[in-house]
Amino acid sequence: MKVLVLNSGSSSIKYQFYDMKKSQVLAKGIVDKIGLAGSTLTHTRSDGDKVELEGEIVDHQAGIEFVLGVLVSKKHGSIKDLSEIDAVGHRVVHGGEYFQSSVILDDDSISKIEKCSQLAPLHNPPNLKGIYAMKEFLPDAPQTAIFDTAFHQTMPDYAYMYAIPYSLYKKYGLRRYGFHGTSHYYVSKTACEFLGVDYTKQRIITCHLGNGASITAIKNGKSIDTSMGLTPVEGMMMGTRSGDLDLGVLTYLIEKEELSVASANTLINKHSGLLGISGISSDMREVEKASDEGNERAKLALEVFYYRILKYIGSYTAVMGSVDIIVFTGGIGENSAKTRKSICERLAFIGLKFDEKINEKTRGKLECITDNDSPTKVLVVPTDEELVIANETMRLLA
Ligand code: AMP
Repeated sequence: MKVLVLNSGSSSIKYQFYDMKKSQVLAKGIVDKIGLAGSTLTHTRSDGDKVELEGEIVDHQAGIEFVLGVLVSKKHGSIKDLSEIDAVGHRVVHGGEYFQSSVILDDDSISKIEKCSQLAPLHNPPNLKGIYAMKEFLPDAPQTAIFDTAFHQTMPDYAYMYAIPYSLYKKYGLRRYGFHGTSHYYVSKTACEFLGVDYTKQRIITCHLGNGASITAIKNGKSIDTSMGLTPVEGMMMGTRSGDLDLGVLTYLIEKEELSVASANTLINKHSGLLGISGISSDMREVEKASDEGNERAKLALEVFYYRILKYIGSYTAVMGSVDIIVFTGGIGENSAKTRKSICERLAFIGLKFDEKINEKTRGKLECITDNDSPTKVLVVPTDEELVIANETMRLLA
């Protein structure tokens, strides 16, 4: 069984092609700068063969035609014919309140994803473009949708409600949904398998710290709260997103700086977070480097970042009554020993026994960074959202 996993963004399409029988990634790649000058397809096969193709990739349809073309190409491909693609799994960002889990796509589910576009206008429309194109090119292959929001649909109402008039929740679906669901699910489950404990009996806090960042409380296998909300701008401070912000700051700036709604949106999404405070970069490596060199604003940006993680861990520990496992994932969580150290050292008050030496050595691999007798275990788990999508596709088709 061969499954193609597609993550179709506004100007890029990322893909991975799996042979599920052999548990092997046959090929992966990215179509970049769709609709812009200099669009490219970078394709890597499992044997290391790598090719970069330039071409006029005017839209998602053309991008997918490129992807399918390279998959069957004699020189760089992995299959002889498109009929060898047994199924396509799509990452879909927003499933609103319609989807509690992944689905096999049909007209009804596609029309519901279209309805959710108003909640994620930047994400769902390009996800849908990938779906429409694949349906056209591979009409006989079943297609699935795996939602970033679905894992968080188990949140209780008191966790997802905003304290605004209830009528607005009913009218527009304005509530907290949460994102990165496939990642939070995968890393929490993997952590339990690694430790040999029952997933349905643990209190887990997963910290997905990448360019986008979110933290989730998972009790007995279910997401009960998460830091992102209606949109991915709520919660943790991120590379360029502000995270939690007094709304009064925005109304103040809109008035004082005469900002349009679009500019205010850009301010909190693109010019804030690590970049906004440090003035150096949204990239954690750059900010850490500047901080090590003594840059005060870089130091401050890191302190704010750590402080906010700690506050979320503290509040989610209170919400669950305790915490058995904390997981770090995402580019920062998996690689920044400095971030993990700053957090774990401040959690000694819950009895956590942090192993600094193991932490220092751990980069991008599954590892426990606490002592065996630590009441709360801390794990680094590399996330693999594509694999979850491929596995979910297999589960649905079975
Ligand atoms: P992601 O969005 O999950 O790809 O994560 C991107 C973030 O991970 C960026 O802020 C990177 O700077 C950060 N990152 C990647 N490698 C490292 C590293 N070795 N140390 C610190 N941060 C890293």
